[in-house]
Parts: sequence; C-alpha cells; structure tokens
Amino acid sequence: MKIMNPATGEMLKEVKETQTAEITAAWSRAKAAQGAWNAKPLEERLAVIRRYHDLLDRDAETLARDLSLEVGKPLQESKNEVQGARGRIRFFLEQSGKWLAPQSIRTDGNTREELSFDPLGVIANISAWNYPYHVGVNVYIPALISGNAVLYKPSEFATLTGLHIARLLHEAGVPENVFIPIIGDRVAGEALLDLPLDGYFFTGSYRTGKHIAERVASKLVPVGLELGGKDPLYVTDEIQDLKKVAGAVAEGCFYNNGQSCCAVERVYVHEKVYDGFIKHFEAEVRALKVGNPIEAGIQQGSLTRPAHLAFLEEQISDALAKGAEVLCGGKRIPGPGAYFEPTVLVHADHSMRIMMEESFGPVIGIMKVRDDDEAIRLMQDCEYGLTAAVYSGNETRGRSILSRIDAGTSYLNCCDRVSPYLPWAGRKHSGLGTTLSWLGILSFVRPRGWHVRTP
Ligand code: NAD
Repeated sequence: MKIMNPATGEMLKEVKETQTAEITAAWSRAKAAQGAWNAKPLEERLAVIRRYHDLLDRDAETLARDLSLEVGKPLQESKNEVQGARGRIRFFLEQSGKWLAPQSIRTDGNTREELSFDPLGVIANISAWNYPYHVGVNVYIPALISGNAVLYKPSEFATLTGLHIARLLHEAGVPENVFIPIIGDRVAGEALLDLPLDGYFFTGSYRTGKHIAERVASKLVPVGLELGGKDPLYVTDEIQDLKKVAGAVAEGCFYNNGQSCCAVERVYVHEKVYDGFIKHFEAEVRALKVGNPIEAGIQQGSLTRPAHLAFLEEQISDALAKGAEVLCGGKRIPGPGAYFEPTVLVHADHSMRIMMEESFGPVIGIMKVRDDDEAIRLMQDCEYGLTAAVYSGNETRGRSILSRIDAGTSYLNCCDRVSPYLPWAGRKHSGLGTTLSWLGILSFVRPRGWHVRTP
C-alpha cells in the first residue's frame, strides 16, 4: 500500500498490507494472549498505559510530523492532537480503577449481592483518519485497561500513525499479541467482520458504520459506532461581542480543515445580528493562512483525501444553482496538493446539499433566521445528532433551545470541543453507544452479578 502526502502528491512510504490469512492468525494469537493480560492486576495494566502516555511525549515531534505528512493537517494541530490524546489517557488512568472496581451492592438475608466486570475478550477497533490519536485512545486505551485484546485497524489514510501507536504500546509493555495492528483498507476491515470477535468499535462514516452494524448483527456482540455529523450552530440576537463570537465560530468551522466529526457544519444567525456577524465572520475566514502544513504559521493545510475536492465542488455548485452566494472562497487551489479555499456560502437553505449532508471540508453554509422557533426547527431538520451549539448572552434561553435539539452534546457559547470527562455519544445517524467519561470506560466490559451465600 502506498502512503501518499496529500499536501504534495508525493509518496511517503510503501507498507505491506495485512493479508486475510494473517488477520485470522492474529485473531488466534490475540485470543490465546488475552487471558494472561486480563489476569494481571489492574495496577500493572495501568502502569503499562502510563508508560505509553510518557512515550507519546518522548516521541511527540516525530509523531506530529508524520501525522501532518500523511493527513495534511498543520503541524501545530498535530502537536495539539498528540498532547490532547495524552490528556484523555490521563483521564482513563485516573478514573478506571474507580469504575471497574467490584461493588458490594447489598445483603439480602444470608445472600451477598455483588457486581463485577469482565472484559469483552478480543475486540476490533476500526478507526478513522481525521484525529487518529484522539479517536484511537477513546477505544483502545479503556479496552486494554479493562483486560481486552485489540485488533486495531487504522484508517488507510493514517497508517504511519497506526504503526507508531502499535510500536509505542509494545515498547510500553503491552504484549505484541494483545495489541495487533491490522494494516489495510476496506478489505482488511471486512476480514475483521468475518471473524468471531467479541466486540466491534468503529469510528468513521455513517455509511460504513451502518454496514458494519448490519454485517455483525447476528454475532450478538457489542457494537460501538462513532459516526458523522452535520452539527448546527445558532447565533441568537443576545450577543455582546459579535467579533469574538465570529472568531470562535470560524475556528469551529475550519479547524482541521473542517474535517472534524464535531466541526460546525451549518450556521443560523438571528436577523437582528446577521449583518454584523457576517462582516466579522468573513474577515476571520479571509485571514486564514492556507499552505503546506509543515510550514510554520499555517492554519489550514491540505485535505486528507484528494478525491474529496470534487465532492466539495459538487456541494457548492448544487448550492449556487439553488440560490446561494459565495461570500469568500469557493474553489480548489491549483497545484500538486489537495488544497481548497476556505469557503463561506450565504443565502443557503435546506433544499441544498451543503445544509443537509456532511461536508467534512472547509466550507460552511449560513442562513438568516427570524426567531428561536425557526432556528430550532432547522437545527432539528437533520439525519445526524452529534453536537449542537448556541451562542447567547442569556443562559436560560440558550439551555432551553439546546434541550429541544436531539444531539448527544450541547454547547452553550462554545463549539467543536471534546472533554474526556463527558460522554461522547452521537444520536440518530451519528452513532451508537458511548466513549469517554465513566460510561465510556464501561463500554468495554460486561457486568457479572454475584449471589453469594455462606455454606
Ligand atoms: P470511513 O467510513 O470511510 O472509514 C473508516 C474506517 O472503516 C477505515 O479504517 C476504513 O478502512 C474502514 N472501512 C471502510 N469500509 C469498510 C468495510 N466495508 N468494512 C470494514 N471496515 C471498513 O470513514 P473515514 O473517512 O475514515 O472517516 C470520516 C468519517 O468519520 C466522517 O463521517 C466523520 O464525521 C466520522 N468521525 C466520527 C467521529 C465521532 O467521534 N463521532 C470521529 C471522527 C470521525
């Protein structure tokens, strides 16, 4: 498999894909090794993960550079991601002992009732490329801590990162048969679906997630899906500092080139503040520095998948044909890399694909709304339910709007943010199950009820 640099079109490396027979053999090895890993005291597994956390820091420069080279994100954003992943790991190190501990529930006559947790066994982690460190640690860290073995398939667009992750986990002390990288694309993913694994944890598009859930349904094992979004953001008329809000919204739309599951994908602005917001927003977007992600000061690198340029062009021409106008951007940037201008479309509406299907790129559609009811109706008019954001100087009003939106995460006066302490749980077509938070620790174990009588 050829690993390409999307910012230059050059080949970075050639790697060997894991063949189907090797994937089956990997599963057998993992199955044989999982019991011994689980038999270790929790403290020992936590110590191994702590070493991994430290090794990520030791190698941070190399990891960030390779990430930028293979996915095209600015170097500073890659550095932020490596450090952000370490923050998530610290959450799991700090909290897992508390949530995985056996519990004494009650005594009923001469019977003691207790609760404990068993790992699932050998699980698949089929991962995405947009934040490979973040979305990876959401799964393989709690899975390993609770005693599972993991067959980890990085995205074919983030293979170098996947190999770094495996190398450092092994160096930290995770046995080679307890965490096994599976290198390849859809074909390798399908081979994992054929195996009798004990759980499937997937991050990626709704289309693939739905396919995976259907393919493994008859196995009756846990399936976790972290899928796409079309996350709405509403700017109410109770805003003091429109420039500040416009800056925050622009970051929510364009960080990582808009290739974030929780990127702002649609903006609704109250008519009373519309003109002021648009003026500041346009200035923010026009100021974004686009260029080679490895160079200092670049805020927007290349897209990860060159084929996505044509998809964005289609969304834009569909919107223009239906009455939208380009405020800035609108085109791919010529050259060997996969660059697209940061693009803002106004006079957008819900007849346009750009307001209904995930763009996953540096384009945003904006609509003017009359009041909160219209904003709520439009925010709800969507197949996805990952996050929703409201900017308002009035917390009661903001909370009331957000509580009427069917999304797993509500942002009031912020957006495009993830905390390991809170559940990450998409609704509707944005996902199934939970990662992060104490709920996400328990996603990788099965409960066991104990009824214990003294003879
Ligand atoms: P994708 O669905 O194309 O691929 C994801 C993974 O699935 C890759 O590893 C791929 O090789 C594998 N795969 C593809 N076809 C398969 C098949 N038939 N069987 C098994 N595996 C298969 O998604 P992507 O382009 O890597 O990621 C982008 C999507 O991920 C966006 O929709 C984004 O919103 C979503 N995402 C969601 C979250 C979240 O937390 N909700 C986080 C990051 C990304």
